[in-house]
Amino acid sequence: MFDNLSDKLDKALHVLKGHGQITEVNVAETLKEVRRALVDADVNYKIAKEFTSTVKEKALGQDVLSSLKPGQLMVKLVKDELVKLMGGEVAGINLSGDPSIILMSGLQGSGKTTFSGKLANFLKTKKTKKPLLVACDVYRPAAIDQLHVVGDQIGVEVFSDREEKNPVAISEKALAYAKENGHNVVIIDTAGRLAVDEAMMTEISNIHNAIQPQETLFVVDSMTGQDAVNTAKAFNDVLNFDGVILTKLDGDTRGGAAISIKSVVNKPIKFIGTGEKMEAIDVFYPERMADRILGMGDVVSLVERAQDQYDEEEARKLQKKIAKNQFGFDDFLKQIQQVKKMGNMKDLVGMIPGAGKMMKDIDIDDDAFKHIEAIIHSMTPEERTQPSVINASRKKRIGKGSGTSVTQVNQLLKQFDQMSKMMKMMQGGGGKRMMQMMKG
Ligand code: GDP
Repeated sequence: MFDNLSDKLDKALHVLKGHGQITEVNVAETLKEVRRALVDADVNYKIAKEFTSTVKEKALGQDVLSSLKPGQLMVKLVKDELVKLMGGEVAGINLSGDPSIILMSGLQGSGKTTFSGKLANFLKTKKTKKPLLVACDVYRPAAIDQLHVVGDQIGVEVFSDREEKNPVAISEKALAYAKENGHNVVIIDTAGRLAVDEAMMTEISNIHNAIQPQETLFVVDSMTGQDAVNTAKAFNDVLNFDGVILTKLDGDTRGGAAISIKSVVNKPIKFIGTGEKMEAIDVFYPERMADRILGMGDVVSLVERAQDQYDEEEARKLQKKIAKNQFGFDDFLKQIQQVKKMGNMKDLVGMIPGAGKMMKDIDIDDDAFKHIEAIIHSMTPEERTQPSVINASRKKRIGKGSGTSVTQVNQLLKQFDQMSKMMKMMQGGGGKRMMQMMKG
């Protein structure tokens, strides 16, 4: 996420690191580079210019904290300004109303349908709501199918009416259905077009007027940079929406939309989409995002994601298994699946302070687990619980079955063996023993 921008800002801010104090000259030099980095990231020129002049004023003015070195001070000032630009505070969504009605708007391909599913899943699991998804795209039958697929995937009911060609009528029927069936949140996915056009705007504003949603959200692909900002403006002029959803941040190396959209439409970014999976949704925290942009990592989000996946019951079972020496490949597989649910690897690494910068040139393969999973899937149940039975001919068979080599199978067995030993040691009051081992 935002690798290019982080890199350039880092270089720009580095200039001051060797200086003993802030001067007009070194501040101007640094900020010129900061401005260039922002413009390259597709931040609107005017915003970039205002940004750097505010930082300059603060750096040279009253706000200077003498205890900070110039480099640190500038990082702090830039960070504070970034946070402000992205909205400062976290903006929640309004779930008042019974049912609460959430209307999705945006261009075709922006990620509306995917996000509708993610949000339904989020509300269901985090806020114990009972959402209903509504398919209002009357032009593309495939869009209705897509929403049904998403609904099935997350176990959320989808309302559609393939006979009805009026989206206002569909939404109204859906609301009546929601009330009858105890759905307390209704998420309406609407039709988008490839570009802003009048027919689409009229249609969405008709739906908006008829159903009076508590939340109207505008979904936009963050990779489209300034276009995203312009589209946001067009939708906001018609809908006066409540918040922005930035999708596909996982593929956005520049970050221009994330940084400038709030100040152009004066509406907060509420959620971000960071992948195609239903779990790839995050509340937008301006401060955490600024930290990530400046390569300071985002440990808080990382820990939260880990907690989301943490199942106490499972953890207890696992402990027992380790104690009884029964930890097998099936348990290992479960662990891998939990890690994978947390998001793509590159994204996760980017949340570790400093690591994003260090690892940016290393290609982190999201399929890193694929081989491991394939190998385990090719094992028999007996082999999974009792890996010691895996002899040479079994290794050959497993290699063949999983499309890997015997060397790869051996590698995994060795890693697994080491891991099992380590676990045993940690368990059996072996902390001391391990310390001794490490001391050599
Ligand atoms: P819609 O036409 O606005 O409903 O857009 P879709 O929900 O069909 O999304 C268009 C494409 O973008 C699909 O292939 C999605 O899988 C993909 N997509 C949506 N959100 C994200 C995201 O946050 N990250 C990535 N990488 N892909 C996404």
